[in-house]
Amino acid sequence: MTERRRALVTGGSRGIGRAVALRLADEGHDIAFCYRAASDAADKTAAEVAERGARVFHGPCDVADNEAVELFVKSAEADLGPMDVLVNSAGITRDSAMVMMDPADWASVIDTNLTGVFNFCRTVSFGFLKRRSGTVVNISSVAGIYGNRGQANYSAAKAGINGMSRALSKELAGAGVRVNVVAPGYIETDMTDELSDKVKKTAMAGIPLRRFGTADDVADLVAFLASDRAAYITGQVVQVDGGIVI
Ligand code: NAP
Repeated sequence: MTERRRALVTGGSRGIGRAVALRLADEGHDIAFCYRAASDAADKTAAEVAERGARVFHGPCDVADNEAVELFVKSAEADLGPMDVLVNSAGITRDSAMVMMDPADWASVIDTNLTGVFNFCRTVSFGFLKRRSGTVVNISSVAGIYGNRGQANYSAAKAGINGMSRALSKELAGAGVRVNVVAPGYIETDMTDELSDKVKKTAMAGIPLRRFGTADDVADLVAFLASDRAAYITGQVVQVDGGIVI
């Protein structure tokens, strides 16, 4: 029997992170996942991972809090063993036009969506480097490529993930560790549920494939990039967006 690999997914309680956790469990990984606060959704995801025959470690961990991140990684690895895969999916939005934007909303989006990815990449990559194996997939957004009106904070954080991940891919490639980014377009999750019908209609008009994506559409690409099938792919930002950015 081949040994199960181990994957850590941030923001695994809901949406894209949840779909990734389930897909990686299906593909032979034990799963550690974190979220902002305990919830029925988190417990449900944990039960669904376990139903797939995977071991599961989960708990709240604010990705923006570096001490909490170090403790979470240490505890997850003590329980499951050293990680093979890191997927950073935790993220938030605090939208408004930039001239009206509360500086606190700027800071919380940068802290969670960009510094949070830095905190987990830094902590987990240390072990990857020592073991000379591992792979990272960070979730950014098409907003980080073309800039979304009303999302200066979010677009800046996501563009930051793209640049940071390319830099990290160069730092880790010599140890055989790959780092890639998945940039989704509009995906049906709680995050896009909040959008008004008007915004959804305008968004739909710009999607050549004429539908919002599903969390499974994103999980398919993440699972591929995390697998050995992508052994020669690193430093890439790959869009899964129905053709919004062509
Ligand atoms: P979602 O359904 O709102 O889920 C967000 C997840 O992130 C939840 O698990 C949440 O935990 C967790 N989270 C939020 N802040 C956190 C923090 N400070 N520390 C730890 N966990 C935190 O969002 P989603 O749509 O799946 O989005 C996932 C990722 O994809 C995000 O990075 C987002 O920017 C990106 N993305 C989404 C779309 C889209 O259309 N949905 C498009 C492009 C990119 P709780 O359950 O505790 O709140």
